[in-house]
Amino acid sequence: LAQLFRPLDLLGMVYRTIRQGVIDMGSMFDLIDTPSEIRDVEGAVALRIGAGHVRFEDVKFGYDADRLILKGIDLDVPAGHTLAVVGPSGAGKSTLARLMYRFYDLTSGRITIDGQDIAQVTQASLRAAIGIVPQDTVLFNDTIGYNIGYGREGAGRDEIEAAARGAAISTFIEGQSDGYDTRVGERGLKLSGGEKQRVAIARTLLKNPPILILDEATSALDSRTEGEIQATLEDIERGRTTIVIAHRLSTIVHADEIVVLEAGEVVERGSHAALLRRNGLYAEMWNRQAQERAEEEGALAAE
Ligand code: ATP
Repeated sequence: LAQLFRPLDLLGMVYRTIRQGVIDMGSMFDLIDTPSEIRDVEGAVALRIGAGHVRFEDVKFGYDADRLILKGIDLDVPAGHTLAVVGPSGAGKSTLARLMYRFYDLTSGRITIDGQDIAQVTQASLRAAIGIVPQDTVLFNDTIGYNIGYGREGAGRDEIEAAARGAAISTFIEGQSDGYDTRVGERGLKLSGGEKQRVAIARTLLKNPPILILDEATSALDSRTEGEIQATLEDIERGRTTIVIAHRLSTIVHADEIVVLEAGEVVERGSHAALLRRNGLYAEMWNRQAQERAEEEGALAAE
C-alpha cells in the first residue's frame, strides 16, 4: 500500500499540473522519473504509536539543494489536537504534509511522532499510522467497493459498507444499479468532486489511523456539499491528531491552532480569534475570503 501511495501522489501532482494549465511536459516527466530515494535506515524498527503526538523541530527542506522551501519550521501538535496550516499559494503547505508521510527526507531538523524520529522507523509502520485525504482522489477503474476497500487490505464487505456510511456516501452507492459492484473511473460511473472526496474519507475510515492529514481541495465544491463534507470531516477528526492544509479559512475556525506559512516560514500562529485580533496576514486573508463569500452569495441571490 505504501509503495502505491507514492505513484498516486505523483499522479495527483500531474493532474493538478494539467488542471492548472501548466502544460510543461518536461517537468511532468521529471516528476514521474524522480526515483524514490527514501529507504529505511539500517535496523529501522516499527513506529510504536501511542496517542499520536506530532512535532516538527526546526525543519528545513528544499526539493533542490539550492532552494530551501521550508526554512526552519517548529510545530507541536498534541495528541488528538487539530492544527491548520494556511498561507498563500506556494508557501510550502503541501510540502509539510509530504514530509510527514516521508515522501522526502529533510535537509535538517526532525519530525517526531510520540518522540520517535520518523526517519528512523520503518516507512511501512509510519504510513500505517497516517491517513491522508488528498486534494484529488485517484479512482481505479474498478468497482466502488474496491475503491473504498483499498483503504485497508483484507477489509470485508461489511467493513466497507460501515466506512461508506461514516463518509455519508452509502445512500449514493446503494442507489446505483449494481450497488457496491458499480464500476467507477474512466470507463464507469463518473463521480463528482464531492463524491470522490467521500470515497477518500471512507478509505481513511477503513484504515482508522491515529494521525490524519487533510489536504483541502482548492477547487471549490458548491457550498452545500462543502458544508456536508466539512461536518463529516469534523466527525472523523475527533480523537485523532489532525493536520489540515486549508485554503478556505471558514473550514478551520475550530482548529486548536492555526499556523500561517509564508514563503516557507511561520509568520503567525494562534487560535482563529487571536489571529483576527492580531490584524495581520491571517486577518487580511479572512476579510478577503469573507468578502468573496458575500459577493458569491449576492450573485446567487440575484440569479
Ligand atoms: P498551494 O496552496 O498552491 O497548494 P502550497 O503552499 O501547498 O501551495 P507547495 O506545494 O508546498 O505549496 O509548494 C511550495 C514550493 O515548492 C513551490 O514553490 C513549488 O513550486 C515547490 N515544489 C512543490 N513540489 C515540488 C517538486 N516536486 N519539485 C520541486 N519543487 C516543488
